[in-house]
Amino acid sequence: MSYPVSYYCPHCGAVFELDREGYLSDKSVTPYPLVGWEYADPDEEFESADGVRLVCGEGDVGAAGVRWTGDRSDADDVEDPDLESPCGREFYLSFVRFVDGEEVEPRPEPTHTTVAGEGPGGPRGTRGPGGPGGPSGFGR
Ligand SMILES: [Zn+2]
Repeated sequence: MSYPVSYYCPHCGAVFELDREGYLSDKSVTPYPLVGWEYADPDEEFESADGVRLVCGEGDVGAAGVRWTGDRSDADDVEDPDLESPCGREFYLSFVRFVDGEEVEPRPEPTHTTVAGEGPGGPRGTRGPGGPGGPSGFGR
């Protein structure tokens, strides 16, 4: 048994409905994929994936059931309420994941550390002479 659930685009606030199975919980709608989540397209079997990759204003695909209502959310966390809507940008609906009965928390986005230049490399030391490699004696 599925039923429509309303979400909105995190970029522009465009509201859409998605048919969802009752037993799955949503975690969040984010403008970027969560680390470790696998996303399906809305016309795929997304209920077996970890989430759905959506494009704002696209994917009006009957049975899979993404419906853009034409409304716009005025929620505080809409990134750019002045953006043209639908904005055509990607965003990600993530389901709650459980591993061994424990809810998986998404890892924070990896921080982009800049490598501070090359350390003083200097010329590599010249190799010392190889050890004595004397001819292996043959015979007796
Ligand atoms: Zn949008």
